[in-house]
Amino acid sequence: MKKNKVLFNLPKKIVFCKKCVVSNQVPRSIPEFKHVKNRRGAKYLNIGRDGICDPCKVHNRRDKIDWKKRELELLQLLKKYRSNNDNYDCLVPGSGGKDSAMQAHLLKYKYGMNPLCITWPPIMYTDYGRENLMNFINIGGFDNLTFAPNGEVMRRLTRMSIKNLLHPFQNFILGQKNLAPKIATKFNIKLIFYGENNADHNESLAESSSSLTDQSMYIYKNLNELYLAGVKIKDLIKNYNFKYKDFVNFLPERKEKLLKGLQIHYLGYFIKWIPQEAYYYAIENTGFKARPYRTQGSFSKYVSIDDKVDDLHWYTTYIKFGIGRATYEASQELRNNHIDRKEALALVDRFDGEFPNKYFNEIMNYLEITEKEFNSWCDKFRSPHIWIKKNNIWKLRHNANRTGVDD
Ligand SMILES: [Zn+2]
Repeated sequence: MKKNKVLFNLPKKIVFCKKCVVSNQVPRSIPEFKHVKNRRGAKYLNIGRDGICDPCKVHNRRDKIDWKKRELELLQLLKKYRSNNDNYDCLVPGSGGKDSAMQAHLLKYKYGMNPLCITWPPIMYTDYGRENLMNFINIGGFDNLTFAPNGEVMRRLTRMSIKNLLHPFQNFILGQKNLAPKIATKFNIKLIFYGENNADHNESLAESSSSLTDQSMYIYKNLNELYLAGVKIKDLIKNYNFKYKDFVNFLPERKEKLLKGLQIHYLGYFIKWIPQEAYYYAIENTGFKARPYRTQGSFSKYVSIDDKVDDLHWYTTYIKFGIGRATYEASQELRNNHIDRKEALALVDRFDGEFPNKYFNEIMNYLEITEKEFNSWCDKFRSPHIWIKKNNIWKLRHNANRTGVDD
């Protein structure tokens, strides 16, 4: 059989996990600041010779973990940092969504810490996202610092990252990730807690063995090596009429500017994290509310519902990797034994890749992109080994249900 062309250094052969429904086309780490456009050096989700993916293995390993011992480790860590005056002693980034709500609440009310919560807001808030953040602050009872980045810069960078990378969330993710160490430095807070360590999405086996995060993710050495929205920093200034100060908040920090001794941990290392339980916990304790309607492209009503752009983001992963949000969420539910593989496959078949028309026009108007432009950009990112056009309709060559054109 003739080999189909592979774009962006994706793995040539498409393989699906035998246990869950993800494929090996899922990026595990993208070198965000290098040339993301061709994804040189990117790593993809590993599926072993046994046919099982790393996230499934990591998840199974959680049953063998001594969680009592892990909690003792947490208590040791907290004891070292707990403030005995009115200073904040840890920083919790979050949006008021179920996971960050639960982690902040546990740290404050179960473990007696004094967290400062920080929020990098969505690109386009949904009413539910805004209300959940307010409930988190007012019902949960937290000090929250919301950083609102320059909206015009955010808008322009988002447009560029869709055009150059088909990645509507790149700048949002970078801003959100890089804000915490900077605010911690300003407030002299030496401990940062993130929630789950993405074990269910894209973690490799090696990365799950420690709670402490590698600081190199949050610092840079050479500004000239950095890219934003698929463009070199110096070219953003030279060719796109940006000033360095416009986008400095999206970038990591220079090593020497970062607070000495800063530690970044995942609470999910110490506490067995089950998304559905975080949901019930957040309803109970921080006034969290699900949306009354399901997310487009998936079946969930309470996962990541803050941003109108979210469903579009997952639509683009479907284009780039053949994997949409239903695949991720069904795999996660499956690993937590809330559904079986047959049900997961049915959910993927029904919802994956559904076009996110609910907010689509609003987003396009805001970003000044025409529908035609968006569709043509999408088509540039369809790798021929994933997609084929039949009777003028794009079809997956392979899917988890084995009903693809080449299955
Ligand atoms: Zn799997």
